[in-house]
Amino acid sequence: MSFRAVVLTLYPEMFPGHLGLSLAGRALERGDWSLETVQIRDFATDRHRTVDDTPAGGGAGMVMRADILARAIDHAVPEGDPRPKLLMSPRGKPLTQARVRELASGLGAVIVCGRFEGVDQRVIEAREMEEVSIGDYVLSGGEPAALVLLDAVVRLLPGVMGNEASGTEESFEGGLLEHPHFTRPQEWEGRPIPEVLTSGNHARIAAWRREQAEMLTRQRRPDLLESGQPVQK
Ligand code: SAH
Repeated sequence: MSFRAVVLTLYPEMFPGHLGLSLAGRALERGDWSLETVQIRDFATDRHRTVDDTPAGGGAGMVMRADILARAIDHAVPEGDPRPKLLMSPRGKPLTQARVRELASGLGAVIVCGRFEGVDQRVIEAREMEEVSIGDYVLSGGEPAALVLLDAVVRLLPGVMGNEASGTEESFEGGLLEHPHFTRPQEWEGRPIPEVLTSGNHARIAAWRREQAEMLTRQRRPDLLESGQPVQK
């Protein structure tokens, strides 16, 4: 069964964006995954098609209305749909490769893109949305975050990437950052490729890569080593 994504947004023209190109785009054309967008504004009820209102309690900006968003969600996904409902949000749980892998092994995802100051809390709870963050910075809308999440998921779907093995030896997959890469020319600006990589000794190469990966992770992301994730063998 293929991965089916539904994205609820005020800017459906931002999709499929870069996911219509390259490997993800070809997979989309083949039907290895599908992407449906829902214009939240279509579910507004007034003449001006309003989707937001001023924050209760005062303050800057606008808030997406619970009633309008709920109507859009209920229309897009029938009750009992097994796909997780994700709300892109800087307050969410930071997205990890482990969660990406879980999503890729599922039936798809319903992704809500926030705008303005965010979404009325009541609809988040009432529709049991899982808040997902793509990092500790603030975007102007959830759309780029949804594209990032889908990019990470789609490349893991069976048949999407040419070389299946490259999906399992990468950064984060084994709790480590990946080792450095080199390719021809053998020497460039006086810098040779590390000798071990051209030795043809596969055991030595594997040991060197492993060592580099551990060193890089220790230097740059010691938190990964402490996170209790399994370290690759
Ligand atoms: N006032 C909010 C930020 C709103 S940004 C706050 O301070 O938390 C507007 C929308 O952009 C959000 O509703 C969310 O959908 C999206 N967004 C912004 N930053 C994001 C991030 N780091 N990850 C995922 N979505 C994000």
